[in-house]
Amino acid sequence: MKEYFEDIFKGIWTVLVGMKITFSHLFTPAVTVQYPDTRLKLPERARNRLYVNMDDCIGCDQCSAACPVSCIKIETVKSVAGDDLGTTSTGQKKRLWVTTFDIDIAKCCYCALCVYPCPTECIKMTDVYEFSEYDRKNLIYNYVTLSEGEIADVKAKAEAAAKEAAEKKAAAAEAAKAAAAAKAAAGPAPAAPAKPGSPAPPPGQTGKPAGGSGTQKPAAPEPPSGGSGGTPKP
Ligand code: SF4
Ligand code: SF4
Repeated sequence: MKEYFEDIFKGIWTVLVGMKITFSHLFTPAVTVQYPDTRLKLPERARNRLYVNMDDCIGCDQCSAACPVSCIKIETVKSVAGDDLGTTSTGQKKRLWVTTFDIDIAKCCYCALCVYPCPTECIKMTDVYEFSEYDRKNLIYNYVTLSEGEIADVKAKAEAAAKEAAEKKAAAAEAAKAAAAAKAAAGPAPAAPAKPGSPAPPPGQTGKPAGGSGTQKPAAPEPPSGGSGGTPKP
């Protein structure tokens, strides 16, 4: 009989211990955020959607090279003489037209590796995290600020400048080749006259050393007086 009541007590006690945590939460304030009616402030260094300030972009491609998933695509065109692209807010002169700057944010893993190498600090992480789309194509962000007409214009100018430079180079190479051919046709240059003031060789001497072999051996050293003429002793 005693054992019967002990079992009933243990059963009730076990339930009470199990419900202890549940009961404690009945008297604490709720932590559930009623999103989207309520939005929490994100930490200062939160990594979400990327932003590129194209006014400061110099098209150096460093962000694209650093991206581990290759989701940044950049194309540039060299400026030609007379183009003024201005300077960045950090004082760097812009020399390249950025004709393509796409980020496929669907592939982005928010690692921020593209942010650190940027020399003008124009690519940044923002705290925008609500950018879901029904079509993946809408997640390819295009940051270029030039219109299609302007892009076609700068490309045409760059092509014309490259063509002109190639023609000039070819003409210079042709001129150098012609000059070399003319020099070869003129024959070998006449021997240079003897320098005034240099002494004339005595009659009967050709200037070669005596013996006629063409190689003049140095005179052997005189043996020490009284010696054998062999190897000098120390
Ligand atoms: S955050 Fe990382 S994955 Fe996303 S674009 Fe930058 S480097 Fe690439
Ligand atoms: S690293 Fe910066 S300046 Fe260079 S291409 Fe990327 S965004 Fe532009």
